[in-house]
Amino acid sequence: MGAAWRLVADGPEATMRVGEALAERLAAGDVVALYGPLGAGKTTLVRGLARGLGAPEGAVVSPTFVYVREVRGGRLALYHVDAYRLVGRLDDEQARMLMEQLGLDWYLEAGGVVAVEWPEPIEASLPPERLVARLDFAGWPEGRILTLQGLGERPARLLEELAGRHGWRPV
Ligand code: ADP
Ligand code: MG
Repeated sequence: MGAAWRLVADGPEATMRVGEALAERLAAGDVVALYGPLGAGKTTLVRGLARGLGAPEGAVVSPTFVYVREVRGGRLALYHVDAYRLVGRLDDEQARMLMEQLGLDWYLEAGGVVAVEWPEPIEASLPPERLVARLDFAGWPEGRILTLQGLGERPARLLEELAGRHGWRPV
């Protein structure tokens, strides 16, 4: 497991910029798993990913009522997953079947990037190599604490390089 990096985002724009920074380095097949409570900024970070990939503004809306939304128009297709409605409701076998039905493997192999909000229910079926972002409230209205970690060699290296460039601190 790679080192974890921590930064404070002082508003939605700062969180989007973190997404943008990540997006610059993303390649086909990359997965970003986004953890944190409702309103922490997971969808906001995905907006930053979309912006960094060059997708048109407004392309990301919360996909809570469908499981996957495709964001087109950028350097790579972005598949935005939100499994909120499944939290606490799937065993591993059901999660595996759902993943098959959603076709996330297909998306990844088709050259896209997958961002997953509320990954807990489908965690065991995600590719083990992935970027993990945890967002937490920081104690004032627009403050958020972001903790980023790379699982696997490539994501770990990617974050290490970005951390150096953006001054993110090791946890
Ligand atoms: P989630 O997807 O985690 O439920 P959203 O990104 O949909 O969260 O919503 C986060 C809300 O909090 C938005 O209304 C956003 O404008 C606001 N917000 C305030 N400060 C921040 C911040 N630093 N980062 C992200 N969102 C923030
Ligand atoms: Mg959301």
